Amino acid sequence: MRLVLVGVEGPINLGSVARLAKNFSADELFLVKPVARLDDELAIRFAAHARDFLARAVIVERLEDALRGVDFSACTSAKVGQRSDVLRHPLTPWDFAALATRFRKVAVVFGRESVGLTRDEIALCDVLVSIPANVEYPVLNLSHAVAIILYELYKATRLQESQFRVEPANEELLRKLAQRLECIAEKVVTDQRIQQVKAALRHLLFKSGLTAGEASGIAYFVKRLVKRLGVDECLA
Ligand code: SAH
Repeated sequence: MRLVLVGVEGPINLGSVARLAKNFSADELFLVKPVARLDDELAIRFAAHARDFLARAVIVERLEDALRGVDFSACTSAKVGQRSDVLRHPLTPWDFAALATRFRKVAVVFGRESVGLTRDEIALCDVLVSIPANVEYPVLNLSHAVAIILYELYKATRLQESQFRVEPANEELLRKLAQRLECIAEKVVTDQRIQQVKAALRHLLFKSGLTAGEASGIAYFVKRLVKRLGVDECLA
């Protein structure tokens, strides 16, 4: 993934974006005619542990140069066009991220703090992406907009490798748990609400996205509950 900033003006934004590039595993940072200096003290300070990213940034003259070798490019803007202004018909960040998974090399382009991207620049991209926000003030700070879009890309393309993937509960155990809980319910609820209670328990288990460890904790609890209530037939 290539992150492209066109004419970035503020050193704090430049440093913050370098940090985000590293946070969300971007591969490259391209700067088209930056106004802020790479060796600005504030840029370096705000890049924090991503100083190396800042030092490796590639500086080019024109957006065309930054899009060379890219399979899929997205320009970004807060401005959304009317019916006939097709250049400004945007995708949401999450729809863009889902599409991006199909391409090998993706670039995301962000504009100047003062005037954003020109129409000619937007015309160079394959799609336009806009972050939905308060219609009365939808323009975000540059680095905040970068954070939101890189996060969506990260979720869509990199999360498989991430440490947040924990083994999910196995379907067989969930079914067994549902049967046991429903059996207990039948012992303790004797009016017509039993159907509602059983459905609610089943939904609770199947909608919750439990991990294997969580399901096994609940299985242990259910077993103790069965013993305490003296309804051993529910363990069948
Ligand atoms: N006054 C400028 C503001 C640019 S903000 C203008 O009118 O365009 C700087 C950059 O942040 C934008 O060029 C865009 O890349 C990004 N940005 C800000 N808000 C955004 C939003 N709601 N959706 C997508 N990108 C946004």
